[in-house]
Amino acid sequence: MVDVVDKVTRSRMMSGISGKDTKPEILIRSLLYRAGFRFRVHAKGLPGKPDIVLKKYRAIVFVHGCFWHRHACPLFKWPSSNANFWKAKISQNKKRDAVVIAALRKLGWRILIIWECALKGAKKIPLEAISQKMSAWLQGDNPFLQIRGSLTL
Ligand SMILES: [Zn+2]
Repeated sequence: MVDVVDKVTRSRMMSGISGKDTKPEILIRSLLYRAGFRFRVHAKGLPGKPDIVLKKYRAIVFVHGCFWHRHACPLFKWPSSNANFWKAKISQNKKRDAVVIAALRKLGWRILIIWECALKGAKKIPLEAISQKMSAWLQGDNPFLQIRGSLTL
């Protein structure tokens, strides 16, 4: 039993949602690129080293893993082992997200968050729709938008 639980936790970690250049992030980058947008990745000079920075549009795109960023969606579930460790770790992530977003907003950046559940799982939405939403947002002036799986819309 312990082994099974550990395997689940490990595979969640290994799915690499927390690190740089994750699969969902690469997918979003290629959608943006195909739609004609150019950007910088992991800009070091900005709070939180944002994933994708589109200076021309004064816009920042984050691709958030639903587990690491505790999204209220079907992809998030507390691991059953090491409960205290995960609670501390994930609430720290949540706090950091809020601080980073507030700091970037203060600097005049617009923020788009793409949640992992928009890209995978039962409630994912078509890539074409994501691409259209991103393009419309980038060319508009809405300061903040989140794109998530269809169940939680
Ligand atoms: Zn989610």
